[in-house]
Amino acid sequence: GFAVRLRAVSKTYDNGVTALGPLDLDVAKGDFVSLLGPSGCGKSTALRLIAGLGAPSAGTVNVSHRATKMDGRHPIGFVFQEPTLMPWASVRDNVRLPLKLAHAAPAEADRRIEEALAQVGLAEFADAYPRELSGGMKMRVSLARALVTDPDILLLDEPFAALDEITRFRLNNDLLALWRKLHKTVIFVTHSVFESVYLSQRVIVLTARPGRIRAEFRIATAEP
Ligand code: ADP
Ligand code: ADP
Repeated sequence: GFAVRLRAVSKTYDNGVTALGPLDLDVAKGDFVSLLGPSGCGKSTALRLIAGLGAPSAGTVNVSHRATKMDGRHPIGFVFQEPTLMPWASVRDNVRLPLKLAHAAPAEADRRIEEALAQVGLAEFADAYPRELSGGMKMRVSLARALVTDPDILLLDEPFAALDEITRFRLNNDLLALWRKLHKTVIFVTHSVFESVYLSQRVIVLTARPGRIRAEFRIATAEP
């Protein structure tokens, strides 16, 4: 089945800029899809529409997720290019934020936070503050914050663009391992052809603004 389905979706902002579309896109459950395209072609706009942050000007956006809303769960996790951490809060409390917003029970929240921090390799940094962390580690916190509500779909908006190449490559490998383990649907926006081919099963290339599908590639892998 599909996780995300866009039909004839376009977005024109209040200033008259048509950022995206019309766009048709089906993302299968559990797939890892990259969105590639020139700056300003509407990639972030597409992610925001999928996340329900703003409505399309035309067309329909459907997101399928588990019907039962369990404690603190949210269908979508979002990671931005900037980690946008609260500087006054510890790593643990930064990761706690979406659970607070979802009114998760405290004991359940604590369990989830420890699990999410372990998943991104930050178990030992729960009490640290963002200023004590490297760029790569801040991005890991941001990833943990997106995973902590156990979403079905993970939206990543150029998450590693600001990192040095080695940190970026480590995070690529760790993200890939997480995807294989957690079976999330991932939509990954990047400028990097390397990243898109290395990480995803499907690469979708958009035209310049307004972004429409220009080309699409399926990556053949030897792994099951
Ligand atoms: P990308 O992520 O591919 O770089 P964006 O989705 O961020 O592209 O932006 C697409 C176009 O829409 C750009 O021209 C951008 O300036 C414009 N845009 C994005 N957000 C807004 C907004 N809130 N209001 C007006 N224009 C916007
Ligand atoms: P990555 O985020 O891929 O782990 P980094 O370059 O951010 O790469 O950090 C490399 C490693 O160095 C981290 O995994 C961590 O173990 C350690 N490290 C980085 N910054 C700190 C820090 N401020 N305090 C303690 N250890 C750190």
